[in-house]
Amino acid sequence: MLIICPTPIGNLDDVTPRQLKALQDADIIACEDSRNTGKLLELLHINRDPQRTKLVSYHEHNAQERAPELIRHLQHDLTVVLVSDAGTPTISDPGYRLVQLCHEHGIAVTALPGPVAAMVALSASGLPSNRFFFEGFLPAKQQAAQERLHIIKQLHTTTILYESPHKLLRTLQLLVDTFGPEHIICVARELTKLHEEYVRKTTQEMLEDYQSRDKVRGEFVILIEPSTESGALEGDALDAKILELLQQNIRTKKIRDQLSSLCDLKSSELYAHIEKLKKDNNL
Ligand code: SAM
Repeated sequence: MLIICPTPIGNLDDVTPRQLKALQDADIIACEDSRNTGKLLELLHINRDPQRTKLVSYHEHNAQERAPELIRHLQHDLTVVLVSDAGTPTISDPGYRLVQLCHEHGIAVTALPGPVAAMVALSASGLPSNRFFFEGFLPAKQQAAQERLHIIKQLHTTTILYESPHKLLRTLQLLVDTFGPEHIICVARELTKLHEEYVRKTTQEMLEDYQSRDKVRGEFVILIEPSTESGALEGDALDAKILELLQQNIRTKKIRDQLSSLCDLKSSELYAHIEKLKKDNNL
């Protein structure tokens, strides 16, 4: 059986008796980083007998070859416990492929309840939570991130982002640009840890708050209140975007494909509009 086993996101006391038992009884612990998990097992006083319980690394870069190996062990009735560095495996963490393969091979899968930073943050954010959208990490590239935010704005739903400290200011600036300076967001930092902090304010205030801090440190979840505006690219903003792309010599069809999900025009209308701007501007 494959057991998906969450681990604490900062506070060791959040480990549950069922998680402890799974880690103690495992034949194989498949983990993102064996040093981190080794340390966690030590802190939890789990004395692993290396002859009985193997620690096997399973991450983004070796998933392709490791997953079939783990499947073979599971087919021989060994218990594999899947953990990540923190929180719940498969949620913005490795594991999805292994779980998929288990289902395909008829291998039993169970998941233990435990912390997910997004859910912890959502529950304390004071933002509507009857419906929400989990984006995880935005794309690294600025333009792709901006495009995702335009799409998210049109969902009119509380949205949850994960962000690393070195990209926090970039993302806060993108939120000001996309949702406007008055839009409410909540930044949840260092959840369950000593310096836990929930700050709720407008995008512009949040950007200024973090710009004024000496150093941006810690782990962050950003929650965006649902937008009530259309969010679609239109008018001057749409034309400016099209002209920017035309000036980079990008072809009409490619521009249409890139922008069609961001604006309210039909595909054929958008194509014609791009062609018109191209002609009017001698591009
Ligand atoms: N699987 C994890 C989960 O269940 O939440 C998420 C792993 S993802 C690689 C790491 C990101 O989760 C961090 O960059 C941060 O955005 C968020 N995160 C994890 N722990 C956190 C914490 N204690 N406080 C705030 N955010 C956290």
